[in-house]
Amino acid sequence: MMLTGKHYLAGHWVSGDTRFMSAPAFGPAREFSAGTPAMVDTAAQAAEAAFESYGYSSRAERAALLRRITDEIDARGDAITEIGCQETGLPQARLIGERGRTVGQLRLFAQHIESGDYLDRKYDAALPDRAPLPRPDLRLMQRPIGPVAVFGASNFPLAFSVAGGDTAAALAAGCPVVVKGHEAHPGTGELVAQAIEAACKACDVHPGVFSLIQGGSRDLGQALVQHPLIRAVGFTGSLGGGRALFDLCAQRPEPIPFFGELGSVNPMFLLPQALSARASALASGWAGALTMGAGQFCTNPGLAIVIAGPDADAFVAEARQALAAVATQTMLTDGIAEAYRSGARRLQQADGVQDLMSTQCSLREATPSLYETTGTAWLANEVLGEEVFGPVGLVVKVADFNQMLTVARALQGQLTCTLQLDSADRAQAQRLLPILERKAGRVLANGFPTGVEVSDTMVHGGPYPASTNFGATSVGTLSIRRFLRPVCYQNIPLDILPADLR
Ligand code: NAP
Repeated sequence: MMLTGKHYLAGHWVSGDTRFMSAPAFGPAREFSAGTPAMVDTAAQAAEAAFESYGYSSRAERAALLRRITDEIDARGDAITEIGCQETGLPQARLIGERGRTVGQLRLFAQHIESGDYLDRKYDAALPDRAPLPRPDLRLMQRPIGPVAVFGASNFPLAFSVAGGDTAAALAAGCPVVVKGHEAHPGTGELVAQAIEAACKACDVHPGVFSLIQGGSRDLGQALVQHPLIRAVGFTGSLGGGRALFDLCAQRPEPIPFFGELGSVNPMFLLPQALSARASALASGWAGALTMGAGQFCTNPGLAIVIAGPDADAFVAEARQALAAVATQTMLTDGIAEAYRSGARRLQQADGVQDLMSTQCSLREATPSLYETTGTAWLANEVLGEEVFGPVGLVVKVADFNQMLTVARALQGQLTCTLQLDSADRAQAQRLLPILERKAGRVLANGFPTGVEVSDTMVHGGPYPASTNFGATSVGTLSIRRFLRPVCYQNIPLDILPADLR
């Protein structure tokens, strides 16, 4: 494993004056150069220069680049897994699985652009004899928007990071990318950047197509979203950080879209028949979903809504037992572990909340927390609807189905909403569905939302605060839309139209 501790800027590995040390869960801490606003400018200028060729490259050329990146990542697979485990504390199997997902989504985007459907090509033939006015020849096609900034996420060091979904979608669309690596995994980020560098060289694309700037202070992220050559931002992280950067994008002299994937409590509605028939299976499944990856998934189903009664009591007792058996896990960073503890304390101390299990952990460790409240208390306190990132569950015992509907209506925007239902619950599910589809990007039945399929049909987004753009997704092929805009070509001679439109 050859780490330079440098940034990859427009085809060169460079370092600056300021450094930071990585803080791995285990293994050696390493020194990395900290990014600066001047580096953002270099990367953005190079990205704009690269757009002149890359933005007009053929779909076959871009598909070849995406596939070459997958080969280069896989060629470094063992080294990426090794440092990824050290930096994040995630187990080896997770890192290997996440690499599979990462190369899988790069390949999916290669296929997706080859098919060409995403271009939305439309044609209104000229009507020269139309009265009272003739119609011109009109053609529409989606075009790439230009340089895109990507903020690597802490919780997916590969699939939502340097070569993650945002980068894959932008490169597929024809947009050069400037990545701000997450400080939680700079070594993993650098190895992936080395893979992208090798692929860009092998495919002979402009060196400004990809840059990685590591760590740095808040100035770096702010400079990135405010740089006049950046045309859009892909972000996964906290509501506070995402909102601050979103506001900066809106305040620019020329505002740009900020595609932030932020917080979600992913409510799960357990309907009476399902609860009565399988409280125990639902409880153990929920405990597993809540604690997977120490609960550090944006789709973690943190809220369970049940109608009060003996079945609800059985569900809570089983969930408590299943959670008590979960071993201590390592969280991604000290900061995230501390945020988990303070978030859990906030729930524990809220009015009307019963403490069923409080986390007993320190430093970077996590053990689960479980709390219970009533529908009335939940409706009275919006803190109980806020995301706590980590293995924490809150059970809301509503008085009856009408209060369940009221809770559903009061939800903030979510990435997912889940229904647990049996056939006798269908009428109630049918009443909930129109409410839930207004709240979430994905509604699912009889499962847990944690796994997010990378496919044509996936929506990983939702109304604010789940995301800052309810019309977009950050996972699946539809996510390419974020980095495209429609252009209408009117009476443009055929031979000078973009090749894809001729
Ligand atoms: P974060 O604090 O939002 O940071 C994400 C990225 O944005 C980092 O690169 C960070 O840079 C940058 N950033 C944040 N606020 C900024 C600001 N005001 N100005 C400029 N740059 C800013 O998220 P995180 O580090 O991943 O984890 C912290 C919390 O985020 C977690 O506890 C959890 O609540 C949440 N989270 C949510 C999801 C989700 O999918 N919903 C995923 C991951 C994390 P710096 O590192 O320099 O601050």
